[in-house]
Amino acid sequence: MAKKRVTKYTLRRRRAVAVLILLLLIIIIAVIANACSDDKKVSKGKAKNESSTSQTTTTTKPSQQNIIINTTTTAANMLNQNTTTTTTAAEKGDVESISLTFYAANIKVGDKKMPIVTMSPSNAKDKSEIWESSNTVIATVDVKGNILGVSPGTCYITVKSKSNPDVYAEVKVTVVANEEDAEPTPTSSDASQPTYVKGVLIANKSYALPKDYNPGLDPTTKSQFELLSADAKKEGLDIHLSSGFRSYDYQKRIYNNYVNAYGQSTADTFSARPGHSEHQTGLAIDVNSIDDSFAATPESAWLASNAHRYGFIIRYPKGKEHITGYKYESWHIRYLGVDTATAVYNSGLTLEEYLGIDSKYSN
Ligand SMILES: [Zn+2]
Repeated sequence: MAKKRVTKYTLRRRRAVAVLILLLLIIIIAVIANACSDDKKVSKGKAKNESSTSQTTTTTKPSQQNIIINTTTTAANMLNQNTTTTTTAAEKGDVESISLTFYAANIKVGDKKMPIVTMSPSNAKDKSEIWESSNTVIATVDVKGNILGVSPGTCYITVKSKSNPDVYAEVKVTVVANEEDAEPTPTSSDASQPTYVKGVLIANKSYALPKDYNPGLDPTTKSQFELLSADAKKEGLDIHLSSGFRSYDYQKRIYNNYVNAYGQSTADTFSARPGHSEHQTGLAIDVNSIDDSFAATPESAWLASNAHRYGFIIRYPKGKEHITGYKYESWHIRYLGVDTATAVYNSGLTLEEYLGIDSKYSN
């Protein structure tokens, strides 16, 4: 009996211990579960930060978090969806979600790009936008959403609803270097007016044209050249137009290509900096093969002795590099009108000497 009582007592004690252990287990599980959900919240917040700086994840277990982080182009989008769907505290009539025509953009330094914004619902009472850049050194954004690349790097451009700033969308902007801006650009190219000296439009190393001076090839220059070409043809010579009008932007491209290939000081001896090219006046023409070989042709000899009769001069004569700023260009003619061209021809002077001006870059 005594043995039985002891067994009964032991049994009850064991049951009590088992219940206690079970309770303890439940508490531990509850604590762990709670801790896990906290972790999730933290890593969710972290994920957003990481996606706005770089791809950093090292977790080996594939999960929703990883997908969001790794596919950065859609990460912003997905996070936005989270944001927009969770904001339910908005007042009636407020913007509830924002969508964009793109969520990632690659632009060059100096380039602009603007996403089109759609705020929902369409009858929201205030659809004002607030635009922000996470790093204005890399890209700026104006009040309308024009994104401008400033320097190479990655940043985020965010548009928020003014009435409900919890609702936003963002664009991952990657700015890459612009080759054209990698080289120094002349300071005098920001000329606001074209320069006329004694009625002659001047574009040389001292005088630049405005960037937007874009007249195309002058019609008189064109027709006089056609006359010249036709007369040369009668003598069995082929003189044809190879390069006429060149815009500021086009000149910028070719100049920078030369700078990249030969270095700036060499490029400056034969190629004009943007804004300084006579081709931008619409009054200059390069004929035939645009290189030194042209000088040895009968066409070149004919052009040198007859161009003025049609209103043209050989603009950069031999041995006058220090005055015109350019090496001899047998193929480059400039229209001045017959009277002025003939006067310059007869003077034996360069156009700079004839007008009393110089041709030197200020920097
Ligand atoms: Zn030329």
